[in-house]
Amino acid sequence: MGRKNYLKEVLSVRRPFIAGNWKMNLNRRQAVELAQAVAARAAEFPHADLAVCPPSVYLDAVGQALAGSRVGLGAQNVYHEASGAFTGEVSAAMLVDLGCRYCILGHSERRHILGETDEQINRKLLAALGAGLTPIVCVGELLSEREAGQTAAVIRRQFDGSLAKLSEPQMRGVVIAYEPVWAIGTGKVATPEQAQEVHLDLRKLIEARYNSGTAQAVRIQYGGSVKPSNAAELLSQPDIDGALVGGASLKADDFLGIVAGASN
Ligand code: PEP
Repeated sequence: MGRKNYLKEVLSVRRPFIAGNWKMNLNRRQAVELAQAVAARAAEFPHADLAVCPPSVYLDAVGQALAGSRVGLGAQNVYHEASGAFTGEVSAAMLVDLGCRYCILGHSERRHILGETDEQINRKLLAALGAGLTPIVCVGELLSEREAGQTAAVIRRQFDGSLAKLSEPQMRGVVIAYEPVWAIGTGKVATPEQAQEVHLDLRKLIEARYNSGTAQAVRIQYGGSVKPSNAAELLSQPDIDGALVGGASLKADDFLGIVAGASN
């Protein structure tokens, strides 16, 4: 174990957490086979928490494929209401009923393609926490915002809006994913220094609103073109606690290669 990771473990309880976001990919058979392949080797990586987030229609089948393994099941979205006339939506309690432990919220594709606002994400977050899910809340700036020197302001605005109204224990139960939009699915990864800077900013925002213990407890993943070849360097940064992985999570070897990078 490297010195930085050793310090992370000694100074805090933050275990590396690697989650795969399968987005709207795969058919049912492929989803089950991928889940089986990840589950079969998950015991090799006891140092990290693992999750996969398949399309909602495959949650049940993937959950069955993961049964008995250390790989958690996550959804990619949730609706904030508990039940009722909301055609096409899925509630947090329904996700729990299917065996979900995690739920991605505010992914940039939902923010920028589907127009989700910080206020909507916050309502979903409160619903997810209320149902006992561990939310993975995504934040991240556009390329134009980074080039205009607005990264810190965008992250603060998303943190203040998406993560509003949380008690301290609730905040400790949230995972944040810093995903620069320009790095998602583009092959253009943030440098470890760029990512570390924003992760530290996020921790300072948590400390300013709560306290340093809470800031040190919250896990903050990096997401954006993470691959086995760049994972170890990113994950060795002191404030990077794992990865939210899109494209590379669709191949078991690549996903587990990233998990392996979290141990070096
Ligand atoms: C993502 O969708 O959350 C993501 C990080 O995608 P990719 O790894 O493909 O950039």
